Amino acid sequence: MPIKEQRTPPRSRLIGNIFLALAALFLIANFILPVVLGPQIPGVPYSLFIHQVQSGEVDRVQVGQNEIRFQLKTENDQAGPVFSTTPIFDLELPKLLEQKGVEFAAAPPPKNGWFTSLLGWVIPPLIFVAIWQFFVSRGGGGPQGVLSIGKSKAKVYVEGESARTTFADVAGVEEAKTELVEIVDFLKTPERYTQIGARIPKGVLLVGPPGTGKTLLAKAVAGEAGVPFFSISGSEFVELFVGVGSSRVRDLFEQAKKQAPCIVFIDELDAIGKSRSSGGFYGGNDEREQTLNQLLTEMDGFAAGDATVIVLAATNRPEVLDPALLRPGRFDRQVLVDRPDLSDREAILKIHAQKVKLGEDVNLKAIATRTPGFAGADLANLVNEAALLAARNQRSYVAQEDFAEAIERVVAGLEKKSRVLNDKEKKIVAYHEVGHALVGSLTSGNGRVEKISIVPRGMAALGYTLQLPTEDRFLMDEAELRGQIATLLGGRSAEEIVFGSITTGAANDLQRATDLAERMVTTYGMSKILGPLAYQQGQQPMFLGDGAPNPRRMLSEETAQAIDREVKEIVETAHQQALDTLKLNRDLLEAIATQLLETEVIEGEKLHSLLSQVQTATQSGFSS
Ligand code: ADP
Ligand code: MG
Ligand code: ZN
Repeated sequence: MPIKEQRTPPRSRLIGNIFLALAALFLIANFILPVVLGPQIPGVPYSLFIHQVQSGEVDRVQVGQNEIRFQLKTENDQAGPVFSTTPIFDLELPKLLEQKGVEFAAAPPPKNGWFTSLLGWVIPPLIFVAIWQFFVSRGGGGPQGVLSIGKSKAKVYVEGESARTTFADVAGVEEAKTELVEIVDFLKTPERYTQIGARIPKGVLLVGPPGTGKTLLAKAVAGEAGVPFFSISGSEFVELFVGVGSSRVRDLFEQAKKQAPCIVFIDELDAIGKSRSSGGFYGGNDEREQTLNQLLTEMDGFAAGDATVIVLAATNRPEVLDPALLRPGRFDRQVLVDRPDLSDREAILKIHAQKVKLGEDVNLKAIATRTPGFAGADLANLVNEAALLAARNQRSYVAQEDFAEAIERVVAGLEKKSRVLNDKEKKIVAYHEVGHALVGSLTSGNGRVEKISIVPRGMAALGYTLQLPTEDRFLMDEAELRGQIATLLGGRSAEEIVFGSITTGAANDLQRATDLAERMVTTYGMSKILGPLAYQQGQQPMFLGDGAPNPRRMLSEETAQAIDREVKEIVETAHQQALDTLKLNRDLLEAIATQLLETEVIEGEKLHSLLSQVQTATQSGFSS
């Protein structure tokens, strides 16, 4: 990101420290040691010195605090050799010297005394600081140098005029952009909102798989609003030293409040925001908890109106976050940043293709068609790979064949990380989802079918059919539940009809269908054979259609068998209903699936009009 970053890169600071330490050593070796020690004088034991005094061999003595130097007499009145000894506490010495007629004096104060002692005072702390800093910077360091162990490591981005990220740099993710445009507006004109007494949201959580542009979106918000952007990664809060994480949070928000209005962006929020209850046994836990608590305190701390600091955070694992983080007043807004569909992928490719020279034959739409499941980052990487291949092939532009080869390379790498469907799988998923949609369009209990997608979503689903309720429902009748089960089996039934074989993709559907059928029998008393009895223990309130059944009561062998038979009967009837519906509407199934394969997503009015052509099988028991 070519945005100005206000931070000395750690490497250059590290080199600076090493240089400082070396300089100090150099000073000590060359100046201080000679001054302190002076020229080398041979030392002798104190007893020898006394002996020599007593035997009258000593000419002159200089008594210092730490050293006694003495010169021996010579025959011809020339300067004799000088020795030194270490004094012991001896009050008799002056008397003895006088007796023997030795000339003696105290040592003069050392020359350059003030300078030496100044160096003596200054250099050791400097060395200490240098070493300290070395370790701190190895642990991550801080922006303000020496005393920065607790300071936040946030990088501050300020709008550089030339390269500032805007929403134009982000393709697709329309819903996310719509949400965030509002945030930009909050930042630009907070008065408009506070005037009416509206509370400006404090936290927005961007949720989505890796590489879908969460970080990019956060930067775009800052760029659009023209405000400072503090960016820090959750993993940077988690430190070796206890208490550092929380003091970093405190410091980060202190800085942010000074610069308000501004944006604080916490990437990888899950690194600190993991649920406190799901604790591990390792020691880092306490530290993370403190950091999390501090973050919560800070978010509660700045009241609406006094400073417009908006906290954006990103995560690809919202399910592990502590519920306290998601409470109102904290990250109460969640924005889904999902993998791009066909047209989004084309738009993303267009943005990144601007950076390379394209050949005449390049067809971005064709490339987008061949890259289902790619996230934005994968597409950016794809364009770069293609450019590299073009350069290797000695071309001055990127050709379609470079893209074709790059796709193969990227896919090979991606398949391990996320799901990229091949053409056959894509076709199966398409028919499967249309199967759900067709059967689902005939049932009222599940709401209206609003969207069919074969863009792999998140980590689990390969495609999905979205049914939204048209009204709040609190009760469901038996026909609606049977319809729901049939809808769940619609996917598998379509596979059976079209391909004559079944894939592993329907496992979750079957699980849910069976659970629902079992609850009809054992909880809701909807079986004529078994009657209105609850065959399950410990009723927990649960919403219709979710959760697994509770453990069964103690049952007799026959009752258990009867339950199993009834559950099987319900599921099989529903399966037959689904098959009948799909066979009756085979042409429509083909038509919608073909279209879905082309566009990957069908939704809204277009979908409604297609599904309105579904015919009801006369023998089926749906409420249509
Ligand atoms: P995340 O934070 O969701 O993991 P990033 O924002 O870091 O993903 O995206 C990595 C890179 O991928 C971006 O810098 C950008 O080049 C590219 N990218 C991702 N999504 C998009 C998008 N929707 N439009 C344009 N480029 C994108
Ligand atoms: Mg990111
Ligand atoms: Zn399914």
